[in-house]
Amino acid sequence: MATHRTKMLIIGSGPAGYSAAIYGARAMLEPIVVQGLQPGGQLTITTDVENYPGFRDVVQGPWLMEEMKAQAEHVGTRMMWDTIVSVDLDGGPPYRAVGDSGDEYIGDTLVIATGASAKWLGVPGEQELGGKGVSACATCDGFFYRGKKVAVIGGGNTAVEEALYLTNHSHDVTLIHRRDELRAERILQERLFASEKITPMWNKTVESFEGDPLAGGLTHLVLRDTETGKRSELKVDGAFVAIGHAPATELFQGKLEMDDSGYLVVEPGTPKTELPGVFACGDVMDHTYRQAVTAAGTGCMAALDAERFLATMDFAREEMPQVEAAE
Ligand code: FAD
Ligand code: NAP
Repeated sequence: MATHRTKMLIIGSGPAGYSAAIYGARAMLEPIVVQGLQPGGQLTITTDVENYPGFRDVVQGPWLMEEMKAQAEHVGTRMMWDTIVSVDLDGGPPYRAVGDSGDEYIGDTLVIATGASAKWLGVPGEQELGGKGVSACATCDGFFYRGKKVAVIGGGNTAVEEALYLTNHSHDVTLIHRRDELRAERILQERLFASEKITPMWNKTVESFEGDPLAGGLTHLVLRDTETGKRSELKVDGAFVAIGHAPATELFQGKLEMDDSGYLVVEPGTPKTELPGVFACGDVMDHTYRQAVTAAGTGCMAALDAERFLATMDFAREEMPQVEAAE
């Protein structure tokens, strides 16, 4: 067991965590990134990324994240192959976290970049055809279905926004919902019903995604009517599962303010949580945009605010609890 002390402890290694690390290291904050179970974050489970600025050609998600990691290390970040299992935010700064390895991490500031993940239906074919016709991000993948037939599954704000967004690319969008009434806000519903490109399909659940992952990908969905139980098929080139996202905030239950969906609450327009020196960035605090570039942007903001926070703390440093930095 070892104790690792840093001016900036970053939990999470997606675009938000790595960007915070790059800025933090360049500000001489000697950041530590605890990478978690998915080093590189969500982009490591996708292939083509076409909307991250700076690359004229398509880049691969895993490659992009390796580059971000290499840049963060190059400027002085320490990467830890560990997952945080508990945090102590009482009486800080500094703040303490314990890793799965048993190691203890102590940060004068804490940057939370634990991300979020899409909820999936968990039906046959969904995972096998992921990235081969099945997606959970229209903004990311809608472009690949230009002029094609697509479906969105869900009835909340996300599903309706995804369906509306997809009309930029497709003139044939089916919204499949398990009830006959949407959960989405009225204004979004009005926009949806006004679109000639979107056909709502009520009282249907998806039983399976069909197609060959190795040849052509998704071809159709098998649907079941929730009232009659009758099965039917819907031919589609792309299907977008939009039944919600789950932010990775379990660690912070009862310790930091969260909204009804479990996202960390920050001061509007900033990455500041209600605790001094604790910042949240990326998908863990953003249920609206959820893009690599916005995660990177808020990661940068978190590092800049951490640096400013430490500058204001300098005068009080001697009064802060002292900790042994043993390894
Ligand atoms: P994440 O990338 O979710 O990373 C979270 C990190 O936190 C991970 O490293 C994880 O290991 C770590 N973590 C979690 N819990 C712990 C813990 N307890 N201890 C330590 N570490 C922890 N966006 C785009 O802009 N363009 C695209 O083309 C695009 N395509 C996508 C395709 C797919 C299939 C998916 C799922 C998403 C896509 N996105 C895309 C969205 C983009 O990936 C996310 O918006 C972005 O990754 C969010 O970054 P983040 O740093 O906030 O969190
Ligand atoms: P949500 O509001 O929880 O809606 C999820 C939808 O998916 C619901 O319609 C639900 O059906 C359906 N669903 C859930 N599990 C399902 C399953 N297993 N099979 C089939 N359908 C399933 O999630 P969200 O739309 O992602 O929104 C999450 C939060 O973010 C909300 O608070 C929302 O207001 C907010 N948000 C806001 C905006 C915005 O303000 N512009 C945009 C996006 C999200 P039922 O309706 O039958 O439960």
